[in-house]
Amino acid sequence: MTAVNSVTDLTREGDIAVLTIDSPPVNALSADVRNGLCSGAQQAAADPAVKAIVVICAGRTFIAGADIAEFGKPAKGATLPEIQRALEGAPKPIIAAVHGTALGGGFEAALMCHYRVAVPSAKFGLPEIKLGLIPGGGGTQRLPRLTGVEKALDIILSGTPFSAQEALQWGVIDALVEEGRLREGALGFARQVIDSRMPLRKIRDLNDKLEAARGRPEIFDKVRRDYGKKFRGFEAWQSALRAVQAALDLPFEDGMKLERQAFLDLIPTEQSRAQRYVFFAERKVWKIADVPDDTPVLPVRKVGVIGAGTMGGGISMNFLNAGIPVSIVETAPDALERGIGTIRRNYDNTARRGRLTTADVDARMRLLSPVIDIEAVSDCDLVIEAVYENMDVKKDVFRKLDKLAKNNAILASNTSYLNIDEIASVTGRPESVLGMHFFSPANVMRLLEVVRGAKTAKPVVATAMQLARKIGKIGVLVGVCHGFVGNRILHQRQREAQKLILEGAMPWDVDRVIYDFGLPMGPFAMSDLAGLDIGWSKATSTSSTIREILCEMNRRGQKTGAGFYDYDDARNAKPSPLVEKIILDFAAKKGVNRRAISDDEILERCIFPMINEGTKILEEGKAQRASDIDVVWINGYGWPVYRGGPMFYADLIGPDKVLATLRRFEATMGAEFRPAPLLERVVAEKTRLQDL
Ligand code: NAD
Repeated sequence: MTAVNSVTDLTREGDIAVLTIDSPPVNALSADVRNGLCSGAQQAAADPAVKAIVVICAGRTFIAGADIAEFGKPAKGATLPEIQRALEGAPKPIIAAVHGTALGGGFEAALMCHYRVAVPSAKFGLPEIKLGLIPGGGGTQRLPRLTGVEKALDIILSGTPFSAQEALQWGVIDALVEEGRLREGALGFARQVIDSRMPLRKIRDLNDKLEAARGRPEIFDKVRRDYGKKFRGFEAWQSALRAVQAALDLPFEDGMKLERQAFLDLIPTEQSRAQRYVFFAERKVWKIADVPDDTPVLPVRKVGVIGAGTMGGGISMNFLNAGIPVSIVETAPDALERGIGTIRRNYDNTARRGRLTTADVDARMRLLSPVIDIEAVSDCDLVIEAVYENMDVKKDVFRKLDKLAKNNAILASNTSYLNIDEIASVTGRPESVLGMHFFSPANVMRLLEVVRGAKTAKPVVATAMQLARKIGKIGVLVGVCHGFVGNRILHQRQREAQKLILEGAMPWDVDRVIYDFGLPMGPFAMSDLAGLDIGWSKATSTSSTIREILCEMNRRGQKTGAGFYDYDDARNAKPSPLVEKIILDFAAKKGVNRRAISDDEILERCIFPMINEGTKILEEGKAQRASDIDVVWINGYGWPVYRGGPMFYADLIGPDKVLATLRRFEATMGAEFRPAPLLERVVAEKTRLQDL
């Protein structure tokens, strides 16, 4: 065995050279790995005794991808053309042997080899688009030549990994080999290549799949239609389309140059920087400063959910999907029936779309036990309360749970705003109580705010975080405060939105600005969707706000066919002349002199107080880090990932600008804009919010 460099070895099995990369944890395509690949392939090719070369990786995976940390830094090590020359240009057949995940640059390296074999559990993919990039190592040029343009576009634009079976079916790999016997399988395949004198198959020279797509612009038109909505506001996908188009129109080397340039141009863009920041932010959330990774977790084999309303049903589905039995509790049979019916309907819809089999649906429904008697949760390891947002009702539930839940059971509340410590105080075991704040629809939204109370025990926190991961959520640890992190920040925007429509804007003006900024909907469309009557009661309503007036008129949002907007039968929103009149009359009654409000002001009034609130949350220690706040807003409220979250966005436009604008607003409009001392410090010290 010869060491090629610190991460690469070369051995020989008869006339087959085996080039092994061993760069834990995931053999990322670092400078060392690139050098090792390059020199190793060259050395093997120069050895007259070698007739074929197998490239394989030690550890848990093939080259899992590029070394993202290197992006945007000065280039070191072997360059792409050099690796390409060493692999694709080798005078002897090179076979990539793949296990684990060959993603991005790792997959592209495999595509530079002449043949590819993989174990059945291997996965492939080009996830660059998720980082605001396109493949930069030939992926957009080689993949269409193997799979055809349509499939390649789908792989590149979705960024979704695909299985070894699919890879075989689509012509991406040449053979599947036995699981756990990759080396032997690859050697066997190499033997076959040598013995049957199979040619050096260079993907760059393949043309038939491209030929089939030439002169068919409708392929690209369809993709633009299919992905247009998903990529609203995103830039990189257009570059991906251009690069794949270049594979059709240009000679291979020119296509490679175009792809490379497009990749390099994307790296410094705000969008890609934001998306790469979010990639790391979503990995950081799991680290909790004083709850080490080895904190013991409590086994959760059975879950109780109290309340089968909007949230209770969605919450239950998460656990059923993960194979964990759920007892769901209601106060009356009809409410219980309604709740179960909704769960069943949700599953049936998923099955109808082909994403679950009816057997899956049945299996999940079998794990669900609907009950009226709360005693039924006495054997649960975790109970999540999702009853009405009312402190007395919640306290009553927790008093009961304290009496009947088993020792060490975790008692969680899904409250949106209420004080977890106060809820915990009615139990004799506040260390077992915490908030698990799901977002609606709870079976869909990825965010879970894990609310740590003053007395919550570390293993309880660790268990909730681990469960979040298990049910496919992204768990963010937050502290007790009104609305926690997400809704507390949301409140700032909602308040300003309400003020703006009195001062001169209309709901659809505000919504348009927020939608164009990249959020899925504006504040008023959101209120209409959620229902204007959340927290409203007829008995206490005094026409003191626009919302109260609308609720009194039974314009309670989409569900009543009207709210801030008018809705048709298909729930399409139209600006409402009636609401316009209500707003104008209300403003006149209040003596407001309405004025024209610019889109810029709308945006700054809505967004800057959110940023300010974020820094206050950090000052108070209610979030662990600024990037956690960004993760909350991206996954809970649809903040556009290409703007990195409110805190990252503040850095993009400049904390000094945010501060100056807040001061200006404070001077003319009042204390709610007073800048947080921490924001002032960031500006004074010229640091970044995202690093807090
Ligand atoms: P909901 O009114 O749809 O459901 C509440 C259910 O709890 C009702 O079916 C009711 O019959 C039942 N219930 C009331 N008291 C009960 C008791 N003692 N025992 C058993 N069941 C009881 O309300 P929801 O929207 O699901 O909200 C539930 C909780 O989740 C609230 O605290 C809310 O703030 C929070 N939350 C709601 C959303 C949302 O968007 N709807 C999002 C996050 C959190």
